[in-house]
Amino acid sequence: MEKTIFDKIIAKKVPSDIIYEDDNYLAFKDINPQAPIHILIIPKKRIPTINDLNDSDRDIIGGMVLIAKDIAKSLSINEDGYRLVFNCNNDGGQTVYHIHLHLLGGRSFSWPPG
Ligand code: 5GP
Repeated sequence: MEKTIFDKIIAKKVPSDIIYEDDNYLAFKDINPQAPIHILIIPKKRIPTINDLNDSDRDIIGGMVLIAKDIAKSLSINEDGYRLVFNCNNDGGQTVYHIHLHLLGGRSFSWPPG
């Protein structure tokens, strides 16, 4: 499994604007925000894509969603709403092969996505 830029962010070898951290997760601002609020929630465990998840990763994924929910509340976008996105592989628009949950908020989003 190849290392990605996110491993360097976890190791603090690359700076990032950290919003939340614990033993298993890191959340930080996206460097190229697509909304007024754009935060990436990642597990510290290296898992390249959603396709690589297995049953033992249930808690990891559940934890990511719960952290996103808590951050949304702390930033007061929970009532207006927000979008959570996992991109998977090329057609899904994935560019960094370390799973991450996008938390996007501060504006409204169209559906279906383009
Ligand atoms: P993906 O397209 O893989 O779903 O999302 C990867 C995200 O990581 C992109 O939104 C991109 O802007 C963000 N990103 C890539 N490199 C860096 C970086 O070095 N720092 C931060 N904070 N975000 C990054």
